[in-house]
Amino acid sequence: MSEDAAPAVAPAALPPSAQSPHPRHIRLTSHSGGFGALPIRWGAVTARERGPLVGTTTNRAHRNVIGTHSGSYSVYRALAVAAGALSREHKADLTNTAPTDVIGPYPQWADPGKIVSMDPWGAEVAREYATELAAGYDIRPTIAVTKAHVILPEVIEAVQKGRLKPDGKLLLEGGAALVTKVAVEPVWYLPEVAKRFGCSETDLRRVLFEETGGMYPELVTRSDLDVFLPPIGGQTVYIFGDPRDLANPEVELTARVHDECNGSDVFGSDICTCRPYLTHAIEECILGAQAQEAGGRGGVGLVAYSRKEGRALGEVTKFLVYNARKRQVGGDTADQYFARTECVAGVQDMRFQELMPDVLHWLGIRKIHRLVSMSNMKYDAITGSGIEVGVRVNIPDELIPADARVEMDAKMAAGYFTPGAVPDAEELKKAKGRGLDA
Ligand SMILES: [Zn+2]
Repeated sequence: MSEDAAPAVAPAALPPSAQSPHPRHIRLTSHSGGFGALPIRWGAVTARERGPLVGTTTNRAHRNVIGTHSGSYSVYRALAVAAGALSREHKADLTNTAPTDVIGPYPQWADPGKIVSMDPWGAEVAREYATELAAGYDIRPTIAVTKAHVILPEVIEAVQKGRLKPDGKLLLEGGAALVTKVAVEPVWYLPEVAKRFGCSETDLRRVLFEETGGMYPELVTRSDLDVFLPPIGGQTVYIFGDPRDLANPEVELTARVHDECNGSDVFGSDICTCRPYLTHAIEECILGAQAQEAGGRGGVGLVAYSRKEGRALGEVTKFLVYNARKRQVGGDTADQYFARTECVAGVQDMRFQELMPDVLHWLGIRKIHRLVSMSNMKYDAITGSGIEVGVRVNIPDELIPADARVEMDAKMAAGYFTPGAVPDAEELKKAKGRGLDA
């Protein structure tokens, strides 16, 4: 399709802000002929050989990926342009934004099958692609690395009860823990993402196009573009200790991979174990990072937090399921826990842990000494991707809220790790969840 063939849209169909001074036709990107777009060689050994990813819209001819930056927030960026608050031509000034810690490069970065859902070079864009930036390519980082103090009531309580001891280095007197934190945007290399899910790339592209209501025509029209910046949530990594130690299998690593649960993580809802497990993991990470081994050096801790609300089904589905569970005949029971989710969502889970280990490979991790997780899906994905796991750490019973017993029993019966007894069929039939009005 040539540029001329792009259908003109009547100005009346667009809001006033979109009419002027911008062109009065929609620029379809579903045609090739982009002059000046740089090639991408996914899995190349160096950033120079790999080439920069250009997902910005300031110069469409430079674009070499499908989609735009910031994951789901790309829609807000469009809104800001539509509202006249943001110039389409704005280029990020990257002065002083460089990572506080250098991560990698690690051998895993050059293995095209190990990292398929993020850009390993995404934090070092300003350094690695200085030439292209100077030549006018608008290249944005997809990863940012910074430092922070995190202060959690559960950690302060652990200090007060003597379970954690401030060392003035990793943990301060008041209970603040020092971390390096990393924000990661999703960047999918479609040929390898398709392989992870056992489907053809053509099918993956077509279904992504169709099931988003035709949001990205290039998925089906531009088979020459292999990289997709999907409009989904990203990940945040919290590192307790020296980030470089993550890649050293001799240094004891305590890690949790956690999927977002806003209701529990932030608001303390007691129907699940998400926040108790997260804060327990943070306590374990601090302990592990402080631990002095034979060599006299500490360990390192890691929490990788993925924006996959409600098993990636979203909060509306999740709350519908809560009601269905609590209103069903016989009350909220563990034996119906997954069935109720399936009734509403069609599946039990959409998190697809297949892509989750990518961030671990990006950090150079080869061994997790203590995995603070009971999930068999996470464990299988991590070990299946070639990372060794030492011991698995379950959540202590006293941290499980009463209303969350239904979820915990259902998960253990379904294969989640537990050092204790797996609940039997009779046990699962006993209603343990609170009623809606209780
Ligand atoms: Zn939860």
